[in-house]
Amino acid sequence: MGYPITLQLRGRRVLVVGGGRVAATRVCRLLADGAEITVVAPELGDSVRVLVAEGQVTWLARGYRSSDLTEPTRAWLVHTATGNLAVDSAVADECDALGIWCVRADDGLRSAAWSPAVAEGTVGTPAEGLQVAVTGDRDPRRARAVRDAIVAGLESGFLPVRRVRRPGRVSLSGKTGVLGEKGVQDGPAAEPGVAAEPGRVYLVGGGPGDPGLLTVRGRALLAAADVVVADRLGPTGALADLDRDVLVLDVGKQPGAHPVPQDEINALLVAHASAGRTVVRLKGGDPFVLGRGGEEALYCRAHGIPVEVVPGVTSAVSVPAAAGIPVTHRGITTSFVVSSAHDGGAVAADAPLDATLVLLMGVNGIGETAARLMDSGRDPSTPVAFIERGWTPTQRTTVTTLEKAAWTAIHEQVRSPAVVVVGDVVRLRASLGDLR
Ligand code: SAH
Repeated sequence: MGYPITLQLRGRRVLVVGGGRVAATRVCRLLADGAEITVVAPELGDSVRVLVAEGQVTWLARGYRSSDLTEPTRAWLVHTATGNLAVDSAVADECDALGIWCVRADDGLRSAAWSPAVAEGTVGTPAEGLQVAVTGDRDPRRARAVRDAIVAGLESGFLPVRRVRRPGRVSLSGKTGVLGEKGVQDGPAAEPGVAAEPGRVYLVGGGPGDPGLLTVRGRALLAAADVVVADRLGPTGALADLDRDVLVLDVGKQPGAHPVPQDEINALLVAHASAGRTVVRLKGGDPFVLGRGGEEALYCRAHGIPVEVVPGVTSAVSVPAAAGIPVTHRGITTSFVVSSAHDGGAVAADAPLDATLVLLMGVNGIGETAARLMDSGRDPSTPVAFIERGWTPTQRTTVTTLEKAAWTAIHEQVRSPAVVVVGDVVRLRASLGDLR
């Protein structure tokens, strides 16, 4: 297989024999590493010619001579890519005799060294600062395909890339406790040293629960997070893939336990970010749809913490969809109103009569809500659907009417989390059935 090694070429002399396309790619990479490059070739392709004109590369406009390996100084590394077997072999043999590494582009099997397929992680993605090098059975095309797949996996967060040590980031002293009070644990250790660079808070919409409905950016940020502050709803399955030293704080309501109060959640986000950590606030659905994401963003801003939002797939639209209920449908309705039903559906009662109503947090107050809707003119026979635990294996849909909704919820033991849909679009379910 060979012995992989990374060379530091800054200021070192590298000889490139040949001036064609392959040589040009090598020259670009070597330049990026700061090598002192001499190209020996009777003719040059355009890209190397530009580099010569800019003075970045020295060009000997002639055929290869043995003395090129040692004069004016001894080469550290040689690349030969002349397209001429006799020349490439001669260069390789002479390098061998002198103990100089030689990479042959024409014949990997007879080469003393070969260069892997290399890519650098894009700045601003979780792969920033990483170099991926793939080598193997000397099939360069396969190596490049594998390299690209790895980079894509890293940049999208499907492969874990959390930075454990940040270059130049030093902060606080040792392990840092955050908010020493109830429900809040110690954070992961920060490196001892000087000043903390503030971290960033990402308000990530996790979608309705299926990890496949988390956005690519959300997934990437999750993979790069130091701290994840998660709700009960949302793609909790995605948390299982996290690096084991990521601090996961569950602030959601658990059966029989109280959720962490909102002001404590706000304080948690700011405290961890202030300590230089990357914080993902993972929320169910979309952070700005009845999710208090706006409050969290305002709080971070007020405390000088950089904050970004990553929209998510809201349950208001996606959960009815999973049950075969489009919230608008040509010939039935062109609008829908999303409302919290906490207050007995006061807002929903003011909605246009032909708009579909999508009620979140609407199970417990359904009796009062349905009564209000009928009082304000909705037909008692309007179809209603309860969709519980959408996008999870136990999703269940119950269809009834406005006048029977309260009775049905009790009789069928409908439980939160559920989306309640009121409107004629519910009838489409009879033809569509579940769509997930
Ligand atoms: N920000 C979220 C909504 C938060 S309010 C979003 O955009 O989806 C919480 C309510 O959302 C729940 O009470 C329930 O009504 C609804 N909900 C969220 N996820 C759900 C799911 N998977 N199935 C059914 N209802 C869900």
